Amino acid sequence: MSDSLKINLTILPEEGLRLTFSKGAAWFKACFSEDEQPEFSLVLADVDCLVTRSGDTIYIRGELAAQIRQECDRCLEKTTIPIGGDFAYTLVPEKTEIAEELELTAEELETSHYRGDFIDLAPMICEQIVLQAPMKILCTEDCKGLCPHCGNNLNTGSCNCRSDIVDDRLAVLKKFRVKN
Ligand SMILES: [Zn+2]
Ligand SMILES: [Zn+2]
Repeated sequence: MSDSLKINLTILPEEGLRLTFSKGAAWFKACFSEDEQPEFSLVLADVDCLVTRSGDTIYIRGELAAQIRQECDRCLEKTTIPIGGDFAYTLVPEKTEIAEELELTAEELETSHYRGDFIDLAPMICEQIVLQAPMKILCTEDCKGLCPHCGNNLNTGSCNCRSDIVDDRLAVLKKFRVKN
C-alpha cells in the first residue's frame, strides 16, 4: 500500500471512505519546511477518519491520538506526552473567479479548498497535531525544574544551594545587627 494520504475523489464511494492509519516521526518532519519545523517531534499518530462528499463539497471528520516528544519547559528533560481529539474539515473546489470572492461569509472562512481530483490528507493531519499540542510541555504537573543557581535537575536530586542562600542571608543579617 502506498504511503501517500492522497484521496482520489473520482473513486470516492457513495457511502464515504473510512481511513485508519498510523504515521511516525519522519513523515511528520517531512510535512514542514526546514525553517518551519515545530519544536516537538512526533512519536506516533493514529488517525481514524471518514471522507464523505455532497456534490462538490468534501467533508472530512476524524479522530487523532498521538504522542509527541519535546524538552520539558522546566527541567529540559525530553518528555513524551499524549495529545489528541476530534477534527473536521469542509473542502470546496477552488474558485477561479477571484473577483467574486471579495466578500467572504463566515461559513466560507471555515472551509478549505481543493483543486483537481485529489485531496491530500497529510497537511490537515499535520496541522491537527500542531493545533492539539499544548503551548507548554511539562514532564509532570509538579516538575520541580532546575535549580536557578547550579542548574541541577531538582526532580532527580537536591543540591546544596538552598542552604547556601540561607547562610548568605544570615551573614547579611549578622552584619546589619553589628552595625546598629
Ligand atoms: Zn520537567
Ligand atoms: Zn543548586
